[in-house]
Amino acid sequence: MSFWFWHGLKKGVRSTHYPREFESAAGVSPGRPVATEFDSAAEAVVAAANCPADAIVARGSAAEVKLERCIYCQHCHYGNSHLLEWHSDYEWTMAVPGRGKYQPLPTAYHRSLHVIVVDAGDCGACLHEVKQLNNPLYNMHRLGIFLTATPRAADVLLVVGPVSENMRVPLLKTYEAMPAPKRILAVGACAINGGVFGRTFMSAGGVASVLPVDLLVPGDPPPPLAILHGLLAVTGRKSPVLQAASSEGNS
Ligand code: SF4
Repeated sequence: MSFWFWHGLKKGVRSTHYPREFESAAGVSPGRPVATEFDSAAEAVVAAANCPADAIVARGSAAEVKLERCIYCQHCHYGNSHLLEWHSDYEWTMAVPGRGKYQPLPTAYHRSLHVIVVDAGDCGACLHEVKQLNNPLYNMHRLGIFLTATPRAADVLLVVGPVSENMRVPLLKTYEAMPAPKRILAVGACAINGGVFGRTFMSAGGVASVLPVDLLVPGDPPPPLAILHGLLAVTGRKSPVLQAASSEGNS
C-alpha cells in the first residue's frame, strides 16, 4: 500500500492534458483517410474502387472521403496501388446534415454532464473504446463528464451499434425516460449508418432511423479521444469540425 502511494506521488499525474493540449502520444489514434489529389481521374477512380465501404468518391482527379462510412479496413492506407493521405488526428466529430447548426447544451452542463451508454447491438469494439474514458489516462471525470446507469439522470444518450431489432424498444424507452434538454451522440460507423451490419430485418441501419441524432463520431471504432471530443462538442466546449458528406445520420 505505502509502495503504491509513494510510487504514485513520484510518477505524478499521467492523465492526458487533452483538451488543454493536443495529445500526440503514440497510439492514441489510428488517424483517418483524407481527401487526396491524384495525377489523373483514372487513379482517383481506382482508389474509390478499392474501398469496400463506398467511403471514397472520385471527383475528377481527387478522391474525397466520406469518413462517416469508413470502416477503417485501411486498404487505402496500406498495400493498394493508389493510397490516400492519412491524418493522425482525432477531433472529427460531425454535425448531422439537414438538421441545421448544432445547438450545444447550456454552459451549466460544462462541468456536470451525465452520459448514459446504450449498446444497441455493437460488436464490442466501440463499447470497449468508450470504457477507456474512465481509465487514468483519459479520466473523463476531470472534465466533469460522468457515466450514469439511469436515464432519469442522463443528459446525453451515447449509442454504439447499428440498433438491432432486440434493442430498438429498450433504446426508445431510454430516450423517452431522459429529461429535457437531452442530446444523442451516435458513436462509430455502425451507429451512424449500420456499418458492416447495414440495414436488414435485424438491424435498423443506424440510430438516426429510430431517434433524432445530434452529433456523429465516425470511426470503426473511434479512439477514446475522438469520443471525448464528441462529448465536449455536446456542450459546446469543442465544435463539430467536420460535416458528414452524405445524408447519413439524418433523421
Ligand atoms: S480505411 Fe477502408 S473503408 Fe475507410 S476509406 Fe480506406 S478503404 Fe475505405
